[in-house]
Amino acid sequence: MSGYLVKEILEHVRMISWELLDDVVEAIIEILRIPAISPSAGGRGELKRAERLQSILSGFGIERVRRVDVPDERAEGGIRPNIIAILEGEDPSKTLWLVAHMDTVPEGDMRLWETDPFEPVIRDGRIYARGAEDNGQAIASMLLVARILMELGLRPRVNLGLVFVSDEEAGNKYGLEQLVRMEIFRKGDEAVVLDYGSPDGSEMEIAEKHMLWLKFTVRGVQAHAAFPHHGINAHRIGARLLLTLDEVLHERFHEHDELYIPPTSTFEPTKKEQNVENVNTIPGIDVFYFDCRILPKYSLDDVLSTIREVCGRFESIYGVRIEVKEVFRWDSPPPTPPSANIVKKLLEALKISRGVDAKLIGIGGGTCAALLRAQGISAVVWSTLDGMAHKPNEYCKIENIRKDAETLAILSLII
Ligand SMILES: [Zn+2]
Repeated sequence: MSGYLVKEILEHVRMISWELLDDVVEAIIEILRIPAISPSAGGRGELKRAERLQSILSGFGIERVRRVDVPDERAEGGIRPNIIAILEGEDPSKTLWLVAHMDTVPEGDMRLWETDPFEPVIRDGRIYARGAEDNGQAIASMLLVARILMELGLRPRVNLGLVFVSDEEAGNKYGLEQLVRMEIFRKGDEAVVLDYGSPDGSEMEIAEKHMLWLKFTVRGVQAHAAFPHHGINAHRIGARLLLTLDEVLHERFHEHDELYIPPTSTFEPTKKEQNVENVNTIPGIDVFYFDCRILPKYSLDDVLSTIREVCGRFESIYGVRIEVKEVFRWDSPPPTPPSANIVKKLLEALKISRGVDAKLIGIGGGTCAALLRAQGISAVVWSTLDGMAHKPNEYCKIENIRKDAETLAILSLII
């Protein structure tokens, strides 16, 4: 497509997106009004919200819509729904996927909210609600892209696939993981996951660190605090172990890679379990956790063997027993290369539609894109966000819904 033609189309896209915006805002408000919290966080799941979204899609005239229900007896209706909608492209042998998630985290401390998190409020060009930004804004942008293309009678260059998944906030088992297993995404397909971004839309995530969550259990000997020499204080040894691991891991795996934010591997002591109830008992057990995000150039096996070495040393010096349990492990797939088509074309679409020169980055990990990359699909994570995810008084800017939709509409035409 010539540069002149793209500019011409952009004018139309801009005009029509302003016209359609109110409709889409109304739709997303209806969606946000229905809670969709994961059963593992005490919610009832996404079914009601998915049903609403389905009827909105059909109301917008999108016909190729399919629902994939994954059984989960803890959820309402016993299922976790996933929705896939396709707009046929000029070349239907390939698909550009846009991915958003329907589930949200719980509202958190209600006292910190100025409005009801499940009664969306529009104020100063923003929609306030739990899930407004994470990931309602993405759902709204995707609805708007579809409407823009249909309204202008524009066919995307390849198939445009809209994917709305469940269970993103709690591990993807009932969501994207299942769709990947069903081979819905095929080799040569490309994807934009709309679940991370900067306030001006200038960050594009192409890489993620390895993730490792570890539980350490230090076993000493419980005793009366007046006679500490009769016991082995697991808390003291645990505290020493925690600081030693902190130091050794940072020293041993110290390399920088400026692609990533932050540019180093991170090893953070996080959760701490309670030990004894009373002050005058020497604790016999100490339990703490580490959240580690490690640059892909290192192997998680090397990290684990360093940890085991340190623990072994502690066992022989202090006479304790130490158990290390992998609570969660994700060996990150190779990054999407900067030369990938989706990266180049999204950079181009951003430049054309908004004059933005985006930079490529890597983050600490855990987005849907990693699952797609592991399947050999080029995936980037991008959108325009104020960083309100999981916070009280979460909001999304209505203008971001529109701007992202315009960029994605252009992307679908030039990819
Ligand atoms: Zn999210």
